[in-house]
Amino acid sequence: MVSTTLKKHNFSAGPAILPQEVFEEASKGVLNFMDSGLSVLEISHRSKEFDSVIKEAEALVRELAGIGDEFAVLFLTGGASTQFFMAPMNLLKEGEKAAYINSGAWSAKAIKEAKHFGNVEVIASSKDANYTFIPKEYNVPADAAYLHITSNNTIYGTQYKSFPETSIPLIADMSSDMFSKPIDFNKFGLIYAGAQKNLGPAGVTLVILRKDLIGRSGRTLPSMLDYNTHVQKGSLFNTPPVFPIYVLMLTLRWLKAKGGLKAIAKHNEEKAAILYKEIDENPCFTGTANKEDRSLMNACFLPTKPEYTEPFLKLCQEAGISGVKGHRSVGGFRASIYNAMPKESVELLVEVMQQFARTQG
Ligand SMILES: *Cc1c(COP(=O)(O)O)cnc(C)c1O
Repeated sequence: MVSTTLKKHNFSAGPAILPQEVFEEASKGVLNFMDSGLSVLEISHRSKEFDSVIKEAEALVRELAGIGDEFAVLFLTGGASTQFFMAPMNLLKEGEKAAYINSGAWSAKAIKEAKHFGNVEVIASSKDANYTFIPKEYNVPADAAYLHITSNNTIYGTQYKSFPETSIPLIADMSSDMFSKPIDFNKFGLIYAGAQKNLGPAGVTLVILRKDLIGRSGRTLPSMLDYNTHVQKGSLFNTPPVFPIYVLMLTLRWLKAKGGLKAIAKHNEEKAAILYKEIDENPCFTGTANKEDRSLMNACFLPTKPEYTEPFLKLCQEAGISGVKGHRSVGGFRASIYNAMPKESVELLVEVMQQFARTQG
């Protein structure tokens, strides 16, 4: 048995930390799922046991998001990256244009894929500033099929604090801040999130789609790439990712038991406040994102001297802290502090930052 008490503090951006209780419950399911005498890894996706799992997962998504029957909730494969093209394929008519805000590398990828299916108008971008802020000055063209945004920029550590007001359908890639705070989910036409940042393990993508948008593009699509197929079949057109959906359900159960989105938002704000305070006060580090746009999920910071990088990472490693190396496009460090990250782990990281500053002083 691997000792769980020796577990590291995982600040990785994704796949990322999940609640310890979820790991324990999921491991029980691997051995004997709901007293069925079978592993969750071998049960049929048509079994009554899995039926109860996917129904509970959907019900939890609906309850946490506060959405009604005008929305479909889907559990798909292919990651958020598949949604980059599946969204325009399903929603953008031939010759029509879509509006995009370019706030980071994932936005840029979504833009690239949308161009296969229509005209793309990038109405605002922070690319020239290495994506250090969320663009706020723009006009949304009323004749665009939709406006696409990335709610949290995982790589650059910026996050929307309020969403664009628009009369056209709003689409959001919420991969890295889904269910991290209460928002008005009813404002969106389509939301998608790869599970591996804040919802569960890699392998499932949560999609919330306003039903009146189904079939909007008028295209004849391969069945697997048509939202309508999955809506009609309740995400069971083909074999869904059974285990990732199970673990996502357990994670949402945990989130609900923690008090839901309001409670988790408070927890996330506290953690981010502790960490950003240290980033701002510690002479060895400096934050990269505009303060008002700072992400509560991914905190990016640079060493004030390049030679600090290796020794700081070494000190982290010695303290059992994992995953704080920054993305290559920003450099330095990134601490991802998703829902499941305990406050104690953030406090430990802050202590290590302070210890590092003392050794450099
Ligand atoms: C990680 C990430 C993606 C890519 O997700 P995949 O599931 O690997 O395709 C897309 N968008 C954002 C905001 C992400 O953080």
